Amino acid sequence: MTATEVPAEAAPAPPTFESLDPRTGDVVGTHPVHDAAAVDAAVARAVEAAKWWGALGYAERRRRLGEWRKALVRSIDALAQVVSDETGKPLDDAKLELVLAIDHLDWAAKHAEKVLGRRKVSSGLLMSNQAASLTYAPIGVIGVIGPWNYPVFTPMGSIAYALAAGNAVVFKPSELTPGVGVALADTLAELVDGHPLLQVVTGFGETGAALCRSAGVGKIAFTGSTATGKRVMAACAETLTPVLIECGGKDPLIVDSDADIEAAADAAVWGGMSNAGQTCVGVERVYVLEDVADAFTARVVAKSSTLRPGGNPAGDFGPMTMPAQTEVVRRHVEDALAKGGRAVVGGNESIRPPFVEPVVILDVPEDSSAITEETFGPLLVVNRVPDLDEAVRRANATGYGLGATVFSKKRGEEIAARLRCGMVAINSVISFAGIPSLPFGGVGDSGFGRIHGEDGLREFTRPQAVARQKFALPIAVTSFKRTSRGMATLVGLIKMRHGR
Ligand code: NDP
Repeated sequence: MTATEVPAEAAPAPPTFESLDPRTGDVVGTHPVHDAAAVDAAVARAVEAAKWWGALGYAERRRRLGEWRKALVRSIDALAQVVSDETGKPLDDAKLELVLAIDHLDWAAKHAEKVLGRRKVSSGLLMSNQAASLTYAPIGVIGVIGPWNYPVFTPMGSIAYALAAGNAVVFKPSELTPGVGVALADTLAELVDGHPLLQVVTGFGETGAALCRSAGVGKIAFTGSTATGKRVMAACAETLTPVLIECGGKDPLIVDSDADIEAAADAAVWGGMSNAGQTCVGVERVYVLEDVADAFTARVVAKSSTLRPGGNPAGDFGPMTMPAQTEVVRRHVEDALAKGGRAVVGGNESIRPPFVEPVVILDVPEDSSAITEETFGPLLVVNRVPDLDEAVRRANATGYGLGATVFSKKRGEEIAARLRCGMVAINSVISFAGIPSLPFGGVGDSGFGRIHGEDGLREFTRPQAVARQKFALPIAVTSFKRTSRGMATLVGLIKMRHGR
């Protein structure tokens, strides 16, 4: 039991489950399965913690979150080890996740007051007797439900911004990465005078479902699959609890005729294969213009055929963290090849659980599951297109709309504006996720709401509008003392102002 882990409320002790190293099957840690009563108790404690934290004010919260930032920096190696042990990803990938999360925490803490603090707004001509102001108040308790693929960076997109906005958090990490959640929360525990500001509840889907139903939760921030996102939303509908839904993607990469082909190939391979392709904003589909397709494909083949999955330190990327995902990748590869796709790197034989070697398939029909469904594995589909219109049409043709990448020297912004998605990287890949001031989130099956940036701070608040009367107007129209003459004057005024 750690400082932040929710204690067992009642005897007998709750059942436990183990988290495993997916490379070896070794047990990494043992954690309680928190039931609905334990989740409710954690939320009740969080309600009190939120009152304390909210009352501290922006400056003190910023100071304490600054201390947390430093504590995380001091703990990078230890935390990265837990991430690597539970996900199987190389240590350096785990460290990169932490670096980005720390930078986001810093931005959220430093910008909260400017973005959310009380500000005067114009009250307009008709209401010029009023002083109007707007503030964004904390919601109270935010329930954060996270996935396993980036078990620090992804939930921190909600946790850091929710805390900076003045809320307490109850975090349910994936059953595959509970130790990461506990270790993360432990680094904050000693900096908040014993207040349970960030608590972790562990368990399976039912623990997450209990968090959605728990009465004191003011908002749920969910990251995970679209299917689970729908279940979360349905559960939250019962209590009208608002939700932020960050789901998967099927992100395209478009290569224009004038693109830097070498850089585009490098980005496609990193975007498609890093983290074994288990990246919500990873590159899954490439649409390359005909005239540069051969040169681009040759570079993709050269770069990806030398990559090898494996255990740390060997291996360019790790295993499939979730065993069942291997079968999804297998199904997509088989379907793409059966429908006429041409494997130029790997193929059916590349799937060797728990690892999947790089697979690159060309000319995959657009109705293949490798094009229409999220693969979440190191499979890159490369299709050539006659022109940009066709590239954009195909890029927009899935139900998902999370991120996209464009390589073009002259038309980057123009292409970006035509893409139906939440984020676009031009001449680099996944870069938007590392920029704390940019909102992160998708449309369609990729979800709604935003983490990161100003929108990400506001996501964890409720706007409060205040109008303070400075003096009474000579014409009273919102009183039973109102006269027809007064109303005629007002209508005359509005005709003059808006009727011409
Ligand atoms: P899941 O949807 O399986 O699980 C996500 C989280 O929800 C886990 O903590 C899970 O717990 C929990 N959960 C499961 N069932 C319920 C329920 N009924 N009610 C409440 N919570 C529940 O996703 P994965 O963990 O498999 O993550 C992979 C998915 O996440 C991919 O589709 C990926 O694209 C997406 N993703 C999206 C990102 C984004 O920002 N848009 C970022 C990263 C990933 P348990 O694990 O214990 O079952």
